[in-house]
Amino acid sequence: MRDIIIPKMVNGFRMHSKSLTEISDALKKKEITSKQLVTLFLDRIRKYNPSLNAFITVDEARALNEADESDRRRKNNQPLSPFDGIPIAIKDNICTEGLRTTCGSKMLNNFIPPYSATAHERVRRAGFITLGKTNMDEFAMGSSTETSFFGPAKNPFNTSKVPGGSSGGSAVAVAARLAPVALGSDTGGSIRQPASFCGIAGIKPTYGRVSRNGLVAYASSLDQIGTFGKTVDDAINLLSLISGHDPHDATSMPRPVDFADGPNAERVKGMLIGIPEEYFIGVDVEIADAVKKIIGKLESFGAKIEKISLKYTDYAVPVYYLIATAEASSNLARFDGIQYGFRSQNADNLRELYFKTRSEGFGQEVKRRIILGTFALSAGYYDAYYLKALKIRRLIIDDFKNALTKVHVIAAPTTTTTAFGIGEKRNDPLSMYMSDILTISANLAGIPSISVPAGISSKCLPIGVQIMGKHFDERNVIDCAKAVEMLAGICDPSL
Ligand code: GLN
Repeated sequence: MRDIIIPKMVNGFRMHSKSLTEISDALKKKEITSKQLVTLFLDRIRKYNPSLNAFITVDEARALNEADESDRRRKNNQPLSPFDGIPIAIKDNICTEGLRTTCGSKMLNNFIPPYSATAHERVRRAGFITLGKTNMDEFAMGSSTETSFFGPAKNPFNTSKVPGGSSGGSAVAVAARLAPVALGSDTGGSIRQPASFCGIAGIKPTYGRVSRNGLVAYASSLDQIGTFGKTVDDAINLLSLISGHDPHDATSMPRPVDFADGPNAERVKGMLIGIPEEYFIGVDVEIADAVKKIIGKLESFGAKIEKISLKYTDYAVPVYYLIATAEASSNLARFDGIQYGFRSQNADNLRELYFKTRSEGFGQEVKRRIILGTFALSAGYYDAYYLKALKIRRLIIDDFKNALTKVHVIAAPTTTTTAFGIGEKRNDPLSMYMSDILTISANLAGIPSISVPAGISSKCLPIGVQIMGKHFDERNVIDCAKAVEMLAGICDPSL
C-alpha cells in the first residue's frame, strides 16, 4: 500500500522500525549496541536522504563517538536513562552546541551554536544520540519545506508530494525510519501538519510546557518545541523528557509533568469529545469521512461525542499572519551581518551592509513576512492591524476556553487536504497560508494539540486527526490520541 520508499524498507533488519521502548529493551538486554544502532540509521540516511532530503546536516563521526561513549556507560551499568544510546533527529532551528544550525536559511548557513537549546540539552543528558539536523522551511515560515535554502524535503509515501512543513525534515526522518524519533517546532501547525502528511504522530504541547531557550525565534508568543514519533507512545516518551520549567525561558511554566507514565487508551471511556462543525468546512470528503469514522469508533469504545462550535475559526488565518509576521519582523532584525551568520561582501558602508546582507541572506518568503510584519506594526496601521489581531486572538482563546469547559478534548481533522504536490502552492502564498487553517488556532490559544494517523486516502496518502485539549492537559489529549491510534489500526510500528 505504501509508495516508493516505505515498501522497500519493510524487508531486512527491522530494528529501525521498533518503538523507543523496544529499542531500549534491546539495548538493555545487550541484543544490540548503540554503535550498531547508530550505524544502522546512518546507513539508512546515506541510502535514502539523497532522494528524501530530510537532513541538512549529518555528523557521522560525532554520532559514532557519542555511541561509543553510550556503549561504555552501558558496559559499566551506568546508562543515563533507559533511552541512553538511541538516535534522534533535531530540527535545524534548535541550537545544537558545536553542530551547524542553519534554520533552513542562507543567513545561518555557517552558524555553529556555542550552546545547546534546553530541549536538546535534556535529550542529550538522557543519552540520546544526535544523528543530525533536519530540513525545514526557512526560519520555520512555510507549510511544505519548500522555502528551505537547501531544497525541498520529499514525502516518503510519494516523493512527488511535499511532506508538509515547516518541520518537514523531522517528519520525513521518522516516517522513513531514518531516525526513531525527532524534535520539531510548531508555531502554526509545523509539527502536526507534517505529522499528518507523513502518517506519524506529532505533538505541540501547551505553550510554556517546553523551554524555548535555544529555539531560534520566529513568533515568540506562538513558537513551541514538540516531538515526532512513529507512535503516540514514542512522541510522549520523548516529550516527557524535554518538558518542565527552565529558568532560561521566562515563558516556561513550573507545572508538573503529569503524563510521564505514557498514554492510556482505556481512559477515553467516559471522556467527552467535542467535534467542532467549523473544522469540517472545506475539508476533502475522504478526510472528513476518515475522521468521522474514527469518531464513531471512539464512541463505540465508550467516549461521549458532542457537537460544538468554535465560531472564530475563520479569523484564525488572518490573525495569525498579522501576529506571526509582526513578531517575526522584530525577531529577525538581529540578522544584520554584524555579529554572526551571513555577511554580504558587496557593501561599502554600514547601511549598505545591512541592506545587502538581508537582501542576499533571506529568501523570498522570509522577506515577504518581514515586510508584512513591519507594515502591521508601523505608526498609523498598528491599531488597525496588529492591535485588532490581538483582540481577535483573545476571542479565539475564550472560544476554546468555553468549549473546553463542556468537553474534555476536541477532535477534528488536522488538515483540509492530504499532502499536496511539490511546486503546487509555491507561487500562491495565500493558498499555502490557508493550508494551516485547522492547526493555527491551537497556537493562538496556546493549547496542546497532537496529530495522529486516522487513515489512508485512496491515493495512498496519510490522513491525520487532531486532538486538542485544555492548557496543560496533555493527559487527556494523549489518552484520546492513543485510543485513536489503536482504533485506526494503521500505525504499526513493526512495519
Ligand atoms: N505554516 C505556518 C507558517 O508558515 C506555520 C509554520 C510553523 O508552525 N512554524 O507560518
